[in-house]
Amino acid sequence: MTRPVAPATIAAKADHYVDAQSGAIVPPLNTSTTFARDTGNQPMNAGHVYARDNNPSFVQAERVLARLENGEQALLFASGMAAIAAVFYTLESGARVVLPQSMYWGVFSWTRQYCARASIAISYYAPDDAVSLRAAIQAEERTDFVWVETPSNPMMHITDIRLAAELAHAAGALLIVDNTVPTPLLTRPLELGADIVMHSATKSLNGHSDVIAGALVSRDSHPHWQRIVTERHDAGAVISPFDASMLLRGMRTVVLRVERACQNAARIARFLHQHERVEGVLYPGLESHPGHDIARQQMCGGYGSLMSFLVKGDRAETLAVIGRLQLLVRATSLGGVETLIEHRHSIEPPETGVPENLLRLAVGIEEVDDLIHDLDQALRPTA
Ligand SMILES: *Cc1c(COP(=O)(O)O)cnc(C)c1O
Repeated sequence: MTRPVAPATIAAKADHYVDAQSGAIVPPLNTSTTFARDTGNQPMNAGHVYARDNNPSFVQAERVLARLENGEQALLFASGMAAIAAVFYTLESGARVVLPQSMYWGVFSWTRQYCARASIAISYYAPDDAVSLRAAIQAEERTDFVWVETPSNPMMHITDIRLAAELAHAAGALLIVDNTVPTPLLTRPLELGADIVMHSATKSLNGHSDVIAGALVSRDSHPHWQRIVTERHDAGAVISPFDASMLLRGMRTVVLRVERACQNAARIARFLHQHERVEGVLYPGLESHPGHDIARQQMCGGYGSLMSFLVKGDRAETLAVIGRLQLLVRATSLGGVETLIEHRHSIEPPETGVPENLLRLAVGIEEVDDLIHDLDQALRPTA
């Protein structure tokens, strides 16, 4: 095919999948853990020996994701955290990484513990501050990785990916971007200079809150990527065949889901922004957001389905607000078809500085007026 096709077409057709033998347009669920050898003792299908090191069931999902990110190769993992761990396991002791001081709590917490054990130094930067990013990268002679998560979770800071790539490369480091929140439909970090993109495919890529999965996508096969490929092959944090087929099915509708969730989120952000019971809204789509200009440059087609807002009142009043919700579900996670809301201060330790009156909202694809009505009745104090 000569004319490049759009992400919606790649996703809907699972990258033109047609089974060569049966003509099926959905890949068969292949649950075999082992693969036969021929009479000369060679694998019947090159590369297929044992399902922990290579598995035909996730190849197609990896192909779709690599094309959506405009990358060379994608690797699926058993979870987003397993994908992150595979990246860090390839570092030697004495390495140094540059991480945002405010980010998805699971990544912050795991990297802090792991790097301490493995004698890997961490320098932190303020994710909304280019001066701080530059200073952290240039603080020491050696830099191995620079990590970016934008918009960040749950404070919704915006980091300039293009600038981070320039600074990382000037220091001889790789830039790795957690692209879970925007998805490749809104931001393609590899096109902005990143070397590796990471996803919790548990979130918008699968989109139905029924699969735990992670992914890495590379721009090209640099030596570090080869170490990651070996790491998954040998340590074996692979996705199960069933989860891979669920993910491939989920990704067929990712374009529609992300479009609708972004539209809903934009409406809800404007509604909350003018609400008398709301102190502030953290959403990069609002012109009042300090990262709006950078977000407009590096996000296309929407500002995502995730936001946080601050209730006028204390912790007790904030918990009372979510207690009054009838349609929105009080649960962690994001990127699903159903809207979820979470009081992050109850989850993260106080040191992360998440305000007690902050609620994180992961907007789904429901009728937006229903969501707005529920939020409005919950925000109004009861007499
Ligand atoms: C959920 C999430 C992760 C972790 O992924 P799991 O699939 O839960 O292991 C990492 N980063 C971000 C931004 C996430 O939202």
